[in-house]
Amino acid sequence: MLLMAFIVTPLISGVLLYSNNKSSIQSELYQLCRHINEHLDPVKHELLASSPVLDKELQADLLTTLSIIHLSNSKIHYIYSIKEIDNDWYFILDTLQNQTVFDRLSEYVTSENVSAFREKYDYPKNFLSDMQTIKQGGVHIDKDVYIDSYGKTIGCMIGIKDGEKLVGVLGVDYSVDQLDEIQINITRSIAVGGVIGIIFLFIAMQYLRQYLQEKQRLLYEMDQLSRTDSLTEISNRRAFFLSCEHLAENAREDAYRAAAIIDIDFFKHVNDDYGHAAGDAALKLFAKLLNHSCNINKFVIGRIGGEEFAVFCATADKDDLISALKSFKRLLSKSPVVLGELEFSVTFSAGYKVSQNAATDVHELLTLADKALYVAKDTGRDRIVEFQG
Ligand code: GH3
Ligand code: MG
Ligand code: MG
Repeated sequence: MLLMAFIVTPLISGVLLYSNNKSSIQSELYQLCRHINEHLDPVKHELLASSPVLDKELQADLLTTLSIIHLSNSKIHYIYSIKEIDNDWYFILDTLQNQTVFDRLSEYVTSENVSAFREKYDYPKNFLSDMQTIKQGGVHIDKDVYIDSYGKTIGCMIGIKDGEKLVGVLGVDYSVDQLDEIQINITRSIAVGGVIGIIFLFIAMQYLRQYLQEKQRLLYEMDQLSRTDSLTEISNRRAFFLSCEHLAENAREDAYRAAAIIDIDFFKHVNDDYGHAAGDAALKLFAKLLNHSCNINKFVIGRIGGEEFAVFCATADKDDLISALKSFKRLLSKSPVVLGELEFSVTFSAGYKVSQNAATDVHELLTLADKALYVAKDTGRDRIVEFQG
């Protein structure tokens, strides 16, 4: 659109300017043609045209007037007159007639071949229909610009009349080189408009690219935020279940699917004894160590409740989950929560369930793991219990 605007605008204004200029040239030419015609003596013209021998003096007389007009206006390519003789049209006067050629020709002119030295007017296609207009007293002006050996031209023709009688046709060919300049300017404007358009387009594309990148980044951040638990920075409940589904779908049929629920023991006491900030610090450390113990390529972990975490895996080794839980337990026992002067440890209880049935989903496994967790809590806490049943 932008590029179009930069090209189409100069094109439209250029075309308007061009056609305006063309019509003002046409009316200027029309006035000029009429003016010249007034200076052309129709009687003398008729005399020259119908004379069987060339009257050089008469010709010079008529040509002088026309030549002065020609020379006084640099836009005139040439002024000429033509006459129909025996169904053909011949030049009678021509301000471009070369005197030397003319002299040489006239040596051969006899009363019989008088028309032979006259150059035949090789009329264009529509000339005869235009001539109808001229015979009826009208004026013909070319609608289109044509190119002759003198450059871009528009021609005008008007009848030379002796009273009502048409004795010839006066033609003036007029330079429209100024239209050339307009055309060059249009092309130039379009080129400049195009270049400016491309530059603007390039800049706009850059902005658009930056905007889209920024949007992408924000969407990614929002997506991450919607998946991440803000305190522990591990997956929240929703993201945990989504990841479990993804992992289960991509697991082998015969893989062992295992899930565990891990709950911090007496966490209420942590808050009560050391304050809420200490409780938060404990949760952060807990999540960090759990994450550390569970290889990201094998396990999905998440915070699914206040001080409740879950782990899921689908692997070839039945003991992968229990091994990870055991190593986490060891690591946690060696890693106290440190908050300024304060230092304390937490333990957890976990229940888990392993199944080799591909149809068992993570929710079923977690329900059973939760039952095992109750057993772990009931039998003294700080332990990992497999669901039996
Ligand atoms: P149990 O061993 O039976 O699990 O005892 P518990 O005290 O851990 O369990 P209970 O469900 O009684 O208490 C859980 C506590 O966890 C209560 C709640 O205030 C605390 N808690 C939950 N979420 C947060 C949190 O984001 N930050 C802090 N500091 N505490 C939290
Ligand atoms: Mg709990
Ligand atoms: Mg608890």
